[in-house]
Amino acid sequence: MSKPAEIELVHLRKAIRYLVGLLEEGSLVTNYDANTRIEIAEVLDLMVDKVEDLPEEVPDNLVQAAVVRAIVGAAERLRKQETTIFFSRQMREAEAVASIHGHSLSGWEQVVSEEGVEFQAACQACGGFIYVTRSGAYNLLLDSCERVK
Ligand SMILES: [Zn+2]
Repeated sequence: MSKPAEIELVHLRKAIRYLVGLLEEGSLVTNYDANTRIEIAEVLDLMVDKVEDLPEEVPDNLVQAAVVRAIVGAAERLRKQETTIFFSRQMREAEAVASIHGHSLSGWEQVVSEEGVEFQAACQACGGFIYVTRSGAYNLLLDSCERVK
């Protein structure tokens, strides 16, 4: 009862994608740790892509290397997402603080400093600055906005 390998591959690929969806959604796997569940879903997703991209005649160790690259890639992707969420939260908080004190911030600009990536925005009225960095926000805005005359 053997079926063509290609059919089996199509089924296997569909099954993996389905598992990825279940892992991401989470309701059938409530006993799994949420972070690990999401990370494994990313690994499986990347792994299917990377294995699909392999040329026809490759030794087993290159297939294994594709799996390792998927693990590394998934960790990087999640770290980037966390960074994006962290910075956008910092920016929303900074905007709220600025507006409470009467400032009107321009759009955020990305700047690269010794500490890495950070973002800055300036008040369009008084020219004061606020920075958000990995270690928090640095507020150089006055307590109340005074327009430059
Ligand atoms: Zn201002």
